[in-house]
Amino acid sequence: MIDLRDDWNDQLERRRVFAASLVPYTLIVDAWAQWAPPSDPPAWDGPVCEERWRRGVPLLGEAAIEIDRVDVEDVLAVAMEAVTAVRPDEAPGMRRLADEWDEGRLDPRAFLPSRGAIGEEAARRLGIRAAVIAFLAYGGLRPALAWALSGARALATDGVWALGVCPFCGAPPGFGDIVEDGRLQLGCHLCAGTWIFSRVRCPLCGADGPRDLARLEPGGADEAYFISACTRCKGYVKQIDRRQRWNARSTVVEDWGSPHLDLAARKAGYWRPIPTLLDLATPRSSL
Ligand SMILES: [Zn+2]
Ligand SMILES: [Zn+2]
Repeated sequence: MIDLRDDWNDQLERRRVFAASLVPYTLIVDAWAQWAPPSDPPAWDGPVCEERWRRGVPLLGEAAIEIDRVDVEDVLAVAMEAVTAVRPDEAPGMRRLADEWDEGRLDPRAFLPSRGAIGEEAARRLGIRAAVIAFLAYGGLRPALAWALSGARALATDGVWALGVCPFCGAPPGFGDIVEDGRLQLGCHLCAGTWIFSRVRCPLCGADGPRDLARLEPGGADEAYFISACTRCKGYVKQIDRRQRWNARSTVVEDWGSPHLDLAARKAGYWRPIPTLLDLATPRSSL
């Protein structure tokens, strides 16, 4: 259902210099591509969704999620392997997770976003770092969440949602695209949802003063890529101006394929809300 293998191979080709650090993602891309939906996706009711959005509540904030454990465990296991591949120290935590899961004491809901955090319940119960759980949440759940929410995508009409978190699952943005008409479309790594957001406001803290957002540009061959960073909360989201780079690939792939931008943002003192393997391999605290 989400087959990003072509996009990913293109990225590996273009970003050969990072090949060694990108390899662990390949297994996740393959696992996503092989995921098979268990049935037709659930239907979402237009007026119910719209009413929730008008109150500023993401759909999963108030809906029981219809995802079975067996539908996520294979992909989750692959995401767990990617974590231990880049950070062997996490192996004991991954074993605790596997034990809890096998005993039936943990289910996909424990990894979902809540206000201000992703997978808070899993992180607390397992004693695993929040960044690791957030990575597992999208690495492991993305195909199932994308499927579960696919019936709601067309219901999100322009202007119904103005917040910085995903209107579908409630996660903070993973990446941003400046689309053809010059607007900013944020992308969610957890559920593959997208939404239009103000270009002059920070999606992470809401700051919208004239000097609150800074734009860091790598230049060179990456001239359409930039980092939109907030001088107030110090958070950042990477973005691509698709008007300059029309052949850019899907957002999660572009995100994983540009670790040099994350290093630049980090060096400048910024953090990102959705971790990549780089954040797990070298946590900020260890720098
Ligand atoms: Zn989402
Ligand atoms: Zn901010």
